Amino acid sequence: MSICSTERWLKVTPKKPRIDEIKDLLNRYSYEYYTLDKPSVSDAVYDSLMDELKKIESDHPELITIDSPTQRVGNKLLDGFQKVEHARRMVSLSDVFDKSEVEAWIERTDKLIPGQRHEFFTDIKMDGLACALIYVDGVLSQAVTRGDSFVGEDVTNNVRTIKNVPLRLREAAGFENFLHGRTEIRGEIVMLKRDFEELNKRQKSLGLPTFANPRNLAAGTIRQLDPALVAARPLHFRGYDVIRDDSSEVPTNSFAYEALTALGISRNQQASVFDNLSDVMKFVNEWSDKRHDLPFNTDGLVIKINDREIYDNLGMVGKNPRGAVAYKYAAEEATTIVRDIVISIGRTGAATPVAVFDPVVVAGTTVQHASLHNADEIERLDIRRGDTVVIFKAGDIIPQVESVLKELRPADSEPIDYEAELKRQYPELEFVRPEGEAVYRVKGSSGPLILKRALAHFASKGALDIDTLGEKNVEVLIDNGLVGDLADIFTLTKDDLLKLDRFADISAQKLISAIADKKSPELERFLYGLGIRHIGAQTAIDLTNHFESMENLAKATIDDLRQVDGVGEIVAESVVAWFADEDNVKLLNKFTELGVIPQFNKKSGGLGGKSFVVTGTLKSMGRDAAADKIRNLGGVFQTAVSKDTTYLVAGGKVGASKLKKAEQYGTKIIDEEELLQIIKE
Ligand code: NAD
Repeated sequence: MSICSTERWLKVTPKKPRIDEIKDLLNRYSYEYYTLDKPSVSDAVYDSLMDELKKIESDHPELITIDSPTQRVGNKLLDGFQKVEHARRMVSLSDVFDKSEVEAWIERTDKLIPGQRHEFFTDIKMDGLACALIYVDGVLSQAVTRGDSFVGEDVTNNVRTIKNVPLRLREAAGFENFLHGRTEIRGEIVMLKRDFEELNKRQKSLGLPTFANPRNLAAGTIRQLDPALVAARPLHFRGYDVIRDDSSEVPTNSFAYEALTALGISRNQQASVFDNLSDVMKFVNEWSDKRHDLPFNTDGLVIKINDREIYDNLGMVGKNPRGAVAYKYAAEEATTIVRDIVISIGRTGAATPVAVFDPVVVAGTTVQHASLHNADEIERLDIRRGDTVVIFKAGDIIPQVESVLKELRPADSEPIDYEAELKRQYPELEFVRPEGEAVYRVKGSSGPLILKRALAHFASKGALDIDTLGEKNVEVLIDNGLVGDLADIFTLTKDDLLKLDRFADISAQKLISAIADKKSPELERFLYGLGIRHIGAQTAIDLTNHFESMENLAKATIDDLRQVDGVGEIVAESVVAWFADEDNVKLLNKFTELGVIPQFNKKSGGLGGKSFVVTGTLKSMGRDAAADKIRNLGGVFQTAVSKDTTYLVAGGKVGASKLKKAEQYGTKIIDEEELLQIIKE
């Protein structure tokens, strides 16, 4: 189906529930991977969607169907090969991704077989295709693919061309019984990396298309109908299991590996046995990087209960044995759902769209947003709210949206009209897209205007409260190129200022000292001063009290943020979008490098949680001073009466509407005297 017709189909077909769409998509991917040997997405994307499906099914077991990809192994068998039923099912393994999941697996097995002390058998997980070699009286009689786990394809003629598959098992002292009757050797057929590279080099020199990866080439090769072609492509077999009719002949997995070596079957030498989780994790960590130096590709590790009787007694859950897991290392890609696309305005007035999505672990860290750079990128990706996207992050590199899985797009999704978004999100601003640029900027503003506003706010009373850095000085500093961002004020020297007409010795010294005084600003003032959209003074305090440091706030997810009283979706998204803007991260780093370290001081006053609204004028202090006092004592200063206002302080010339609201909500109305009493407490 062409892309065009897929998109038409998307528009006209009523959408199914997401679970069904994920199942359909995974079934398509499995068919491409197992049957056609031509995957259209990475394993990480497949695993990520599979993970989502497993979570939905575990929350709603009633939705599990027998044809769910969580219940099936492999895919349809190819015509042209004899079908062979496996004597024992060839299973798939459930994935674990970190230590806590290994621990949970161990706990589950311990519960099922209490009082047993387990040994764990670990090995490298080869990324090839599974194959069973059946030896009768020591002679290779049949080779069968895993197929759908119950029935595989007879690929004996092709497997005979693999040089390291012995046609006859070796005789070895202590293992004589394996040469009598039926011995099934299970293992993985792989193409070694260097053979794959050689082959591709040859393809290239012959002007032929190159192959995508060793795994799919190996799988495609073994299922060729012409053994001559198979023989021309070097494949390699490594065993990982030995099965006898009498299972007591192979008491442990480590014994199976000894048998493999004795019988002349190649196997991994890295396999090890441990008796505790911490050693298992050491093995996991050791191979995290080292596995890249192995001669074949890997897709993690296999961890099994070593004792085969216990392993068998643990049984199966769905298509997976309870006694083993596949440990998957951090993938550099994952899928998630875009919750919103928010636009952040940088200090130069440039509008940067940011995709905010459900938190997802990519390359070992949780990410929840990625810059979409500009309107062209939004158009190129055709990314929309509600879309399922592939997020990519290699190593320490900033996460990016790689692509959109359009098959999972909600039926009512709308393309992003970027100009309309700008208008909706910033009704007070006008934007232009300069000729030849991809980025929209605030009209006429250019950098300085926005920076002037930002710095004036940063230095203002409610924020850092830098004496003498008023609007006029801000203007002069920026117009003379002495300040290019908020952090630059901390680089100013007296000499810099003395070069300007506006400053003389005393005024220059005064400003420099006033700035230096604020190198350890209170966290809430610093946060408020950054001018993050929707973060007013009170929200800054609430966020500070909750997160206690900029680092914690930067890491917070939308859900974390919404835990804070008074923080809703819009504020949460604004915070997340702000930290997603690379310019802002650079700015914060610059503050740190300049030694500007915001301080968190827990407010220990007795007003904890109580909220105040002041109406009318107070005799003893200004409204700002009252707000400061209340906040310093841990109280909340509000501008309007709401249902959670504790006190309405009625000064002179009281606002009638506020009194009415207070009566409506049952808010306690107090006068200035009473306020002073409370503040004194
Ligand atoms: P699995 O991950 O369930 O693991 C079981 C298999 O591991 C065994 O059958 C065996 O062949 C193999 N194995 C390798 N080394 C081993 C060792 N030392 N000991 C024991 N077993 C070993 O295997 P699966 O079900 O074939 O593969 C599922 C994976 O295939 C998915 O996680 C996904 O990454 C990939 N896949 C990708 C796509 C795609 O479109 N990209 C589609 C389907 C599946």
